[in-house]
Amino acid sequence: MDFLKEMEGKRVHDSFGKNTTKNVRHVCVPGPVIVGAGPSGLAAAACLSDRGVPSVIIERSNCIASLWQLKSYTRLRLHLPKEFCELPLMPFPAEFPTYPSKQQFVDYLETYTKKFDLKPHFNESVDCAEYDHNLGLWRVKTTGLHNEEMEYVTRWLIVATGENAEEIVPVIEGMDEFEGPIVHTSVYKSGNVFRGKRVLVVGCGNSGMEVCLDLCNSDASPSLVVRNKAHILPREMLGVSTFGLSMWLLKWLHVRYVDQLLLFLSWFFLGDTSRLGLDRPKIGPIELKMATGKTPVLDVGTLAEIRSGSIKVCPGIKQISTHKVHFVNGRAEDFDAIILATGYKSNVPSWLKDTNLFSEEDGLPKKPFPNGWKGEYGLYSVGFTKRGLLGTSMDAKKIAQDIELLWKADSKHYLSALFYSPSSSPPPPPPPSLGH
Ligand SMILES: Cc1cc2nc3c(=O)[nH]c(=O)nc-3n(C[C@H](O)[C@H](O)[C@H](O)COP(=O)(O)OP(=O)(O)OC[C@H]3O[C@@H](n4cnc5c(N)ncnc54)[C@H](O)[C@@H]3O)c2cc1C
Repeated sequence: MDFLKEMEGKRVHDSFGKNTTKNVRHVCVPGPVIVGAGPSGLAAAACLSDRGVPSVIIERSNCIASLWQLKSYTRLRLHLPKEFCELPLMPFPAEFPTYPSKQQFVDYLETYTKKFDLKPHFNESVDCAEYDHNLGLWRVKTTGLHNEEMEYVTRWLIVATGENAEEIVPVIEGMDEFEGPIVHTSVYKSGNVFRGKRVLVVGCGNSGMEVCLDLCNSDASPSLVVRNKAHILPREMLGVSTFGLSMWLLKWLHVRYVDQLLLFLSWFFLGDTSRLGLDRPKIGPIELKMATGKTPVLDVGTLAEIRSGSIKVCPGIKQISTHKVHFVNGRAEDFDAIILATGYKSNVPSWLKDTNLFSEEDGLPKKPFPNGWKGEYGLYSVGFTKRGLLGTSMDAKKIAQDIELLWKADSKHYLSALFYSPSSSPPPPPPPSLGH
């Protein structure tokens, strides 16, 4: 890329204490470095590009939106209506359905990538990013497919590795003894391979519920482990999106009234879910989402299968043996396979040496929404708002606006320094501060 300046030799010294004789390529990036080429990284890069700021995107996998392309099941559709999921500067095609399929979403992202001429560096994983106080710049170290090492040096670092970077795999006693497959939903593609099998799905979030439905449709016999209380809402009520309705109501009413209305409507359309073994939390669905980030389940037909007995609801697991799962209520049942719909977590603490913006505990910004997008020394986060793609768009726009100001100020300094002639002009301003 023409805006990348390769720095040979010793212009940037290795201050991490690693073996400096290693063949590490150093690259000085004039604009920001963005880690992750999911929807958030792409949105940030597009907003920057729109404002004339070039960036470099680093992605560990071999494609954009790897969560959608490589780690999701075939029947997946956007859970929310498309108008709440579009990235900045490019709406979804009008002919797309309200809930685009995963392939349609990926096609949209591919078009987005082309439109803004984004060229992520694929197969490069960021292992370490640290602010160098001497240089006043970030050092971002990556490893490629064949162990080749790179170090990008940049003034701005944008973290876009997502809330779903690593699978959460619980440790359950006896797991190793189980003779059937135990797989995370990130590798589940379709229920076809489980036809005729007894499958235990662990976790009742949107993925767990949808995988159960997929297994039912594939003539498997799913059971669902429900350990915690959960809010189940209809995805739509009389053709109106529950999410859209909630967003609209929130403009006029306090969240508690919106919750009461949602719970009444859910009871009307879905009945009493606690009778099916799915107790509701005391706090309402939107208030809970705002306080903890826990997303309500938007039902797409699973509840009807639970009601009809096609999906069994089970309590928490105590122990697993060769073919059996022992539950906390003392019951035990035979299963052929176990699917872990146990979610994901951020991987930021494993590579970012910063404790200011991100929490070391959960890898999410410490400051609650809407203040978690910006840290110190040119560090930014996009897509960590627990508000899906809507949150991504908000972050991306704010980041681009912020960086554009600094970028333009720097360019002015740079140009005046370049054209300064002692005879004709006053002295140039001091060189740009590379701090924050
Ligand atoms: C099944 C499912 C359905 C969903 N449906 C919706 C929906 O309908 N609407 C909605 O708004 N949200 C939805 N979400 C939320 C989802 O998180 C977003 O849709 C979106 O994928 C988030 O984008 P992101 O770019 O922040 O993270 P990701 O899509 O996870 O992208 C992060 C990228 O960073 C890369 N990466 C991670 N670590 C490194 C590293 N160290 N070095 C280099 N690259 C790295 C990853 O490979 C990945 O490509 C859904 C999530 C799931 C799991």
